[in-house]
Amino acid sequence: MTADEKQRTAVFLDLAGDFISSGYRGAEQGYLFTDDVPSAGEGAKNGENSTQGDSLEKIAAEIRACAGCPLGKTRTNAAPGEGVTQPLVMVIGEGPGAEEDAQGRPFVGRAGQLLDKMLSSINLSRNSNCFIANVVKCRPPNNRDPRPEETASCAHFLKRQIVFLKPKFILVAGRIAAQTLLETTEPIGKLRGKFTELTVKDMTIPLLVTYHPAALLRNEEYKRPAWEDLKLLRSRIDELNGEN
Ligand code: SF4
Repeated sequence: MTADEKQRTAVFLDLAGDFISSGYRGAEQGYLFTDDVPSAGEGAKNGENSTQGDSLEKIAAEIRACAGCPLGKTRTNAAPGEGVTQPLVMVIGEGPGAEEDAQGRPFVGRAGQLLDKMLSSINLSRNSNCFIANVVKCRPPNNRDPRPEETASCAHFLKRQIVFLKPKFILVAGRIAAQTLLETTEPIGKLRGKFTELTVKDMTIPLLVTYHPAALLRNEEYKRPAWEDLKLLRSRIDELNGEN
């Protein structure tokens, strides 16, 4: 139920109460209602059915109010995602870290700055042609991996974002996001470096996996294969644009 529907129901019940008590108006009640947030169990179903009339702002507001998994209790700020609508590329990572939790924005720490540089090297940017999000919108404590039940609880938000944004390509950053989206336990070394597809509702979107920028900061030897992945993505974009 939406906050507006709850408000109207409450006013109606107040009036009915006044009528029952011989028409005397009771003291005005100050209600503060919020929209219902789908529970973990309802999430995927509601996400599937609520795309009509959906908006990024609506999804973000629901995420900020969400307590659908334990991460909702430990976060400072949820980081719903940011970028342009109808992006050429949607970048999907694992989850917010400390800086993202503090700012409520995705990929804004050191790894995020590297991600921006990587995107910029192939003429992509969250300011002009990308949208950046994560598989979980709230920070796992101590930067641990999100648990399967947490990614499952949060999946309907990402799905709604994908359906709303209709990206031409998806770039998945890191093992956790790749394994979650592709529903596999294959190591990232086997998942990266080649295009696959993600089907969401009636859309089939080309998807490429690469290393998470945080992994590149820890391990220099991932930089070359990550650059190969970026070049592969750029060549597919150019093909789409008829530039090859
Ligand atoms: S991680 Fe997702 S499901 Fe869990 S509380 Fe945050 S928004 Fe809700």
